[in-house]
Amino acid sequence: MSIVVHKYGGTSVGTPDKIKNVARHVANVKAQGNDVVVIVSAMGHTTDELINLMHQITKNPDHREYDMLISTGEQVSASLLAMALIDIGCPAVSLTGGQAGVVTEDIYKKARIKHIKLDRIKKEFKEGKVVVITGFQGIDSKGDIITIGRGGSDTSAVAVAAALNADVCDIYTDVDGVYTTDPRIVPEAKRLDTISYDEMLELASLGAQVLHPRSVECAKHYGIPIHLRASFDFARTGTMVKDTK
Ligand code: ASP
Ligand code: MG
Repeated sequence: MSIVVHKYGGTSVGTPDKIKNVARHVANVKAQGNDVVVIVSAMGHTTDELINLMHQITKNPDHREYDMLISTGEQVSASLLAMALIDIGCPAVSLTGGQAGVVTEDIYKKARIKHIKLDRIKKEFKEGKVVVITGFQGIDSKGDIITIGRGGSDTSAVAVAAALNADVCDIYTDVDGVYTTDPRIVPEAKRLDTISYDEMLELASLGAQVLHPRSVECAKHYGIPIHLRASFDFARTGTMVKDTK
């Protein structure tokens, strides 16, 4: 039995049908005898909409309340995915970052993850449940909800994969990997089978928004390969981000 860590981005859980589709895939992976953790982003553009709402209240949001607000999008997608799993007979539980043991620095809006206490995740594994965790957030020493910077769910996933010593962190998104150039601009762009952590970081610094840079740093530090792959075709292999030496 292995530990499998999946992360689904906002587009991949953007509609009820997509959430149900993800649930079927996750249930299959679980049925193969794996312990499965799923990290989710907020549905679609939820986080942007929450920020827009906030700006209609204040131009100067209190930082603690900002985190309280924008962490809620992930609670919606996590609980809906857990419900979808339970509905098809796959025991599951959704947990906030704090409930899942994700401990961050005491810095609102852009903390780093310090460590992950695994007791709760392991307890749920023992009970045979798929563990669905809200990405993008943890808890600080005061018990406050803290977010880890826009796009941070990738980093949540890699941090959980590292803490669980998973073989790989599967990041499902709306592209099927990393391309030599942007396929929307250059049609003959080639998909890469593998790319090194450093090359991936360079791409990110050039503005490629496929992966949150901190997730790549974290993956490099712990030697966790990231499999960046398509949520519109679960059978398709994507690009492995890993040590190529
Ligand atoms: N929902 C958060 C954002 O839009 C985190 C993420 O998607 O990774 O930034
Ligand atoms: Mg993202």
